[in-house]
Amino acid sequence: MSADLHLHTCFSDGTYTPEELAALAKQTGLRAVALTDHDTVEGCARMAAACQALGVEFIPAAELTAEVCGHEIHFLGYFLDPENETLLHELAKFQEVRQGRIHEMTARLNQAGVPLKAESVFALANCRSPGRPHVARALVQEGFCDTLDQAFERFLRKGKPAWVPKFKISAMEAIRLIHQARGLAVMAHPGLNRTDEVIPGLVQAGMDGLECFHTKHSTNMTEHYLQIAEQHNLLVTGGSDCHGLNKGKPLIGTVKVPYRLVERMKEKVLQRAVEGGFLIAQPSPGNPTTS
Ligand SMILES: [Zn+2]
Ligand SMILES: [Zn+2]
Repeated sequence: MSADLHLHTCFSDGTYTPEELAALAKQTGLRAVALTDHDTVEGCARMAAACQALGVEFIPAAELTAEVCGHEIHFLGYFLDPENETLLHELAKFQEVRQGRIHEMTARLNQAGVPLKAESVFALANCRSPGRPHVARALVQEGFCDTLDQAFERFLRKGKPAWVPKFKISAMEAIRLIHQARGLAVMAHPGLNRTDEVIPGLVQAGMDGLECFHTKHSTNMTEHYLQIAEQHNLLVTGGSDCHGLNKGKPLIGTVKVPYRLVERMKEKVLQRAVEGGFLIAQPSPGNPTTS
């Protein structure tokens, strides 16, 4: 009984459709999954329907890019309401900025002598949340680079000719945005950021959890963040951060957490609903919507 709580679809920079991802979740034997596309909840309705048909519990979520003390960090918002108006309004703004960034990146590529068109990237991305991975894929598809790694190494990494800084909201704004949409704010892959000193401030700002289990975390890192989570009484989450195939195999389910951690998350959502004076029909602890 386990859950993979970090997954991307083609609604951001993943390659699977929600239906494909739901089918893989079922095949992998996962009891629950969360969809955490970058700056969008557009895939949630389709993923929820696909999961329900297969008897897999679905958790709506999104991954937001934020900044604290000059560091980029990612927040996962779990159990947020995908129809929350303020959330949708803000996400639309982030998506617009993402599209502008693609134009800037292709302009810089053009200056560097690579005639890639922004339109090619948009056609390939075919979503409202395009990002650097889409530019990399377009560079390979059009024969300007041999591999995705090469595209990043030559052009897209920080400091390379086509690198454009990402728009970020402050960590406090991210937490507030997720909370007002009735979600839980969890810091994603802290081991990749290595900015542990910001954690106490984020806890004070209301951060709910820490993604201790992640594909790019070593066993030592996971242990380290489990300790920090315990110290600050934070929820523990984890997932594969699947964007599609990895070395020829689907990444989904390769990092998973015991289902009881999902139950803890649901308890906190419920507790907050009670404290906030609004009771929501679901989720309720120990009573999953499907299974
Ligand atoms: Zn991330
Ligand atoms: Zn991610």
